[in-house]
Amino acid sequence: MAEFCLKCWNELNGTNDGEDKYILSEEFDLCENCGEYTRVIISERRITRCDKLIQKFFRLNK
Ligand SMILES: [Zn+2]
Repeated sequence: MAEFCLKCWNELNGTNDGEDKYILSEEFDLCENCGEYTRVIISERRITRCDKLIQKFFRLNK
């Protein structure tokens, strides 16, 4: 699978999404578009049922 940094990903897709919409790698990796070692997108962040439960849990504990 090709790996791209957030900047290139937005350019390629014509989007302007922030970091919070994607899961980025912890380690630096090679972006296959600009060739820089940077954090690359691993996957799109989706709100799952589990995430909702976690959010609910944290709200209850505030
Ligand atoms: Zn890039």
